[in-house]
Amino acid sequence: MSEFVFERLSDEYGPEQVTYVYEPRVGLKGIVVVDNSASGPAIGGIRMAPDVTTTEVFRLARAMTWKNALAQIPHGGGKSAILADPSAPNKQALIRSFARAIANIKTYIPGPDMGTDETCMAWVRDEIGRSVGLSRVLGGIPLDQIGATGWGCAVAAEVACEFSGIKMEGAKITIQGFGNVGQHAARYLVKKGAVVVGVSDVDGALVNPEGLDIEELISHRRKHNNVTGYGKGKVLDRDAIIRVPCDLFVPAARPDVITEHNVALLQCKIVLQGANIPATALAERMMHAAGILSVPDFVCNAGGVICAAVEYAGGSQRQAFDQITEKISDNTREVLKLAAEHKQMPREAAVALAKQRVAEAMSYRRLG
Ligand code: NAD
Repeated sequence: MSEFVFERLSDEYGPEQVTYVYEPRVGLKGIVVVDNSASGPAIGGIRMAPDVTTTEVFRLARAMTWKNALAQIPHGGGKSAILADPSAPNKQALIRSFARAIANIKTYIPGPDMGTDETCMAWVRDEIGRSVGLSRVLGGIPLDQIGATGWGCAVAAEVACEFSGIKMEGAKITIQGFGNVGQHAARYLVKKGAVVVGVSDVDGALVNPEGLDIEELISHRRKHNNVTGYGKGKVLDRDAIIRVPCDLFVPAARPDVITEHNVALLQCKIVLQGANIPATALAERMMHAAGILSVPDFVCNAGGVICAAVEYAGGSQRQAFDQITEKISDNTREVLKLAAEHKQMPREAAVALAKQRVAEAMSYRRLG
């Protein structure tokens, strides 16, 4: 397996280290990939799912390398996985055992990801003294609660609107996925003057061209776990959100929701990728050809990891918001400017910029 990773996936940036951990007494099987730590110890989440592969962990780690480098935080990219059901009754034993097994991989700082949360991060810190995504009592900044990623998306939206000649005041927004990222992106965009005309969640889509009352909708969802029962709007099929006319569409749910089969349905000028890889590579090229400005995931959804880096450095919530604002605003502007100058897709410009930053960080390291 490791041969496969190094022969097929390695390049001049990494991975630096791929480690398998195994503890049969608790049934622990885990994978850690430190992709690149030139800028500092890698930050990346622990994914807990029974079917994660080494290749998947490597790809996620590489995505963190680009995201962290672009955000210019003092951390490289990494990721890990525990191959188990996140509802396993011995979850705490698995997490603690995993933490002890990675204690000596000092170039990796674990954070939360699918299947792990701040409680898991507290167990990890209790075992090895390092993790991010902690609760306030442990000095953490609860990034989902404060909406760090949603705030970053709203900041990126403002810059993207500027590039597309759209006024934020009155800009029409649709959002797919009304979870941590979607809800907070909606709240912050409304605070900036935008109007959310449609949202979707697993149960369906809700559309109101006059604008939805987001605070009311959030409290409705908190109570009823749906958006469609809110009432003040038209209920559509879940996937119909993609064809609702708007200025800016925020996919904030799952990967690969925009494909070559549905990209032509989009009726927006900007796609702001709140979720990770919400569009296939082909769909992204098709959006570009159709004149839709697509802001890449790792540019606009870096708010969470910037917040985690501030937490790790002992900073405050206010400092986290300030850094997210400055970094995401500057990076979105630089990426969109470079893309326009070089007639590239924003993703190509963003990857080139991230590579340049990683290469510079690597140039300062001693060889071997
Ligand atoms: P979440 O689980 O809180 O919310 C996701 C929401 O999407 C849920 O409400 C779910 O019901 C809904 N959903 C699922 N499938 C859907 C579909 N087909 N159509 C419409 N809605 C659907 O997750 P989150 O933390 O908001 O993360 C959303 C995405 O953003 C994920 O891809 C995640 O990897 C990415 N992301 C999250 C963060 C973060 O800080 N939370 C940071 C970077 C990237």
